This record gives sequence, structure tokens and C-alpha cells, in this order.
Amino acid sequence: GFKMGIVGLPNVGKSTLFNALTKTAAAQAANFPFCTIEPNVGEVGVPDARLDRLAAIAGSKQIIPTRMTFVDIAGLVKGASKGEGLGNQFLANIREVDAIAHVLRCFEDGDVTHVEGRVNPVEDAETIETELMLADLESIEKRRANLVRKLKGNDKEAQQQDRLLAAAQAVLENGQPARVVEVDAEDAKAWKMLQLLTTKPVLYVCNVGEAEAADGNEHSAKVAEMAASQGNSHVIISAQIEEEISQLEDDEAAMFLEEMGLEEAGLDRLIRAGYDLLHLETYFTVGPKEARAWTIRKGMLAPQAAGVIHGDFEKGFIRAETIAYDDFIACNGEQGAKEAGKMRAEGKTYEVKDGDVMHFLFNT
Ligand code: GDP
Repeated sequence: GFKMGIVGLPNVGKSTLFNALTKTAAAQAANFPFCTIEPNVGEVGVPDARLDRLAAIAGSKQIIPTRMTFVDIAGLVKGASKGEGLGNQFLANIREVDAIAHVLRCFEDGDVTHVEGRVNPVEDAETIETELMLADLESIEKRRANLVRKLKGNDKEAQQQDRLLAAAQAVLENGQPARVVEVDAEDAKAWKMLQLLTTKPVLYVCNVGEAEAADGNEHSAKVAEMAASQGNSHVIISAQIEEEISQLEDDEAAMFLEEMGLEEAGLDRLIRAGYDLLHLETYFTVGPKEARAWTIRKGMLAPQAAGVIHGDFEKGFIRAETIAYDDFIACNGEQGAKEAGKMRAEGKTYEVKDGDVMHFLFNT
């Protein structure tokens, strides 16, 4: 599955957000730094209105959304790359995630201590980015030193690693994150394996006050500007509202959202933004028993997409019967789509499209 790490300075609202996300009290929010010491891991269903429509048409008994994992990563402070706070543990946890949801404090509240004594999300973002860049630099230096012997032995893999590490080092020394390095297709895999922290895609999460959840505030406006200039994305959310919503029944939650002037829960936007950030797509399997969503990377071919369900589906792949989402809806289901000639038989080179309704045929 795909993992998003929730990071941010202490007391910005990470645990509150994580609690809301997972609807558990596992990550206890408390008004002091370092309260989230162990990384908390939670799986959430990815909201997708299409799945409900498919299930309604097919009369599916069960609806199973695709899932995404969130990891609440312990507070990072200035100096973390030098081992301050929970520095090293933080860095180890963040290496394993696919993307970073960076929570920024955009709410004013005199009762909640800010580690720097002022609300300034753009500077906070820079503080964390700087720590991540320093950590990358340090790990690059160590790794390059370790490669020296292999390089003397003309080891091809070591040469590739060293070349990529040197490219990252050059931009980092220039004060830029490693993600600005342009990597050739043939280096892409090795580059990803380096697991540099500043190559992870970033989604800024502006945690605003309850009254500002719909439109944000001056702080979130500055974050939006910064995100746009970096080519990163941002979402505006009130962690406190989300936590309240997460404790309500669905119909109560809908009423609450309407009262607050919100079209949908911020968490739904957050999860989808994470999905987009990772270039993920969804295909569906639909039947009377269940309607289910599955996550793939954009551009995945039919056999690999089948492999997401089960390895045997990929190994024994014969073909896929495919109906585009819009056709499935327009024809009122599989039977109608079949009669209208909208069900296609696709082979091993078919690139699965977002929303495809798939049925795989395979040898066992
Ligand atoms: P973490 O250290 O980043 O995990 O932060 P927490 O989620 O523990 O939040 C720190 C404190 O800020 C808690 O007392 C929360 O109740 C409070 N808090 C979180 N989000 C908001 C918010 O949007 N508005 C206000 N006023 N307080 C918040």
C-alpha cells in the first residue's frame, strides 16, 4: 500500500489530524511537544463517490474502498538532523513513506504553545525543509564515503549510486531540496532507492481555526503562495473540526458540514490530494457480492493491475474484460454495457484507465 507521513513541528495539530483520520484515540493530542513518540500508523479508506454509484447499480452487498496508510511521525524540531528532540528516530521513519503531509500551524490560539513563540507557517516550513536537507547531506556524505572501496573495484552499481548521490549533494549544498534534480528514466529506480528525504513529494496541510475552515486565513494564503512557487500542493483544513466530525454519525456530519459552510470533509480532500500527489489511480471490481476499489500507479498495465488483487492474477493473466466507468453508469450496469458493445476484451499491453471496471481472466 501507499504511505503518507504526517510531519510538522510540535503542537501544530498532527495528532489531532491523525486522530480524526483514523477515528481512534490512538494518538492522544496533548498541549505539549513530543507527545507523539512512537509513530502511529493508521489505514483509511479513500473516499470515492463513484464506488457508491457502481455498488447501487450492481446491488453489491458490500462496498470496500481502497486504502491509504497514514503515519503520524513524532515531532521534528530545529536541530533534528543533529540529533535534537526525536531527530534520528524521526528521520528513520520518514525515509519509509511515499509522500509527506506537512502540517503547518495556521491557527492563532494563545493557549497552545508554539515552539517558536509565533505563528509563521512559511518559516516553519523552511525550518523543517532545512532539517531534511541537512539530514540528506549528512547521509549522502556517509554513503559516498562507504562507496569508495567499491568504486575502486569498478562496481557499476556503486558508480551509478555515487553519481546520483553527487548530483543530489550539489543541489543540497546550493540550498535546494534533492527533488529538483532531473533524473533520467534509466536512473529512476536507483534514485528512488536512495530514499532521500527531500525527494519525497510534499503536500502542505494548513491547519486553520474553526471559523476559517472554508476559506482559510492570511497564514494559509501565504502557504498557498509558497506551495505554488515550489510546484507543491496544499489543502486547508481545521484539524479540530475534522476531529469533531469524525465522532459524528454520517447524517449528523453532513448537517455539521453544511452549518460550517463546507462542501465536504477536509479529510476527504486531504486523502484525495495525497492520492493525486502520488499519481495514483483507481480501478473497480463490481459484482453482487461486493463493489471494490483498487489502487494502481498511473500507467500500469492490465497484468500488474491484476497483481494488486493477487499475485496469481498477474502470473496467470489471460485477459481483462473492461468497461469504462462512464459506460457502466450510462448503460446501467454490466449487462447493459455488454449489450451496447461497451465491454472490451483487453490483453497484456492494456494500460488500465482511472475508473475502469475490470474483470480478470487468468490461469491457475
Ligand atoms: P502535534 O504536537 O502536532 O501532534 O499537535 P496536537 O495535535 O497534539 O495539537 C496540539 C494542541 O493544539 C492540542 O491542544 C490541540 O487541541 C490544539 N489544536 C490542534 N489543532 C487546533 C486548531 O485548529 N485550533 C486550535 N485552537 N487548537 C488546535
